[in-house]
Amino acid sequence: MITDTIEKLVAKATQLVHLFNYCELCEQPIYQQVALCDHCVSLIPRFQLDSLSGDLLNRPEIYGLYSKCVFDHLIAISPYQYPMSDWLKQFKYLGRWQYQRLCCRVLNFHLNELLKLSDFCPPDIVMPVPIHINRWQHRGFNQTLPLARTVAKVFKVHCNADCLVRQNQTGSQAQASGQLRRKQLKNNFALLPNETSYETSNEVTGKRVKLEGMHVALVDDVVTTGATVSEISRLLKAANVAKVSVYCLALSL
Ligand SMILES: [Zn+2]
Repeated sequence: MITDTIEKLVAKATQLVHLFNYCELCEQPIYQQVALCDHCVSLIPRFQLDSLSGDLLNRPEIYGLYSKCVFDHLIAISPYQYPMSDWLKQFKYLGRWQYQRLCCRVLNFHLNELLKLSDFCPPDIVMPVPIHINRWQHRGFNQTLPLARTVAKVFKVHCNADCLVRQNQTGSQAQASGQLRRKQLKNNFALLPNETSYETSNEVTGKRVKLEGMHVALVDDVVTTGATVSEISRLLKAANVAKVSVYCLALSL
């Protein structure tokens, strides 16, 4: 009896400690595990998507940069600058998980803002941009997966991380030109035929739903020339996907 009471007290105390947190930027106490307070998250440099129906391609100068790309919509939260650039590097290259929380928090906050727009069209399914298995083995994780899961959670849709694979490992593309990237990426991705349908979680019958005719959200951490996401979009369109929206945390112009 006494042991039960002590166990309950310890569980309650642990819960309270985890509920108590500090904002990463202003260090004000916050009472949920959200990493940033509402005030600071709203101050992160960001694109004004609300006047563009949530789509950056509605800005002529951005559409001009990506006019040859195959995807239909581009949703980027922030320009590639501090603090997002710093947080993404800490998370992606140094494996510092607290920065993953910050990135997901910013994404979650701004996607929820998009949902308030009357003309915004949410996706039917979410897919992370895959990394090659060698890079995955070296890094230990795919940095786009937690971002894709955040997108799926906000839109309450399925996240399919299994149907796309990266077949070849390209070198660092950070400095490569658009033309070189497109050449490197040719036939670099594949869609696994057995994974292009998925079990619906709310169906007792375990009905499988096909990708055909769907609006896919393709999620990357940073988009630069758009070559990677365009190459995958081409593959998805060849599998009769109706529409591809690219979601990224930062756009590096
Ligand atoms: Zn704050």
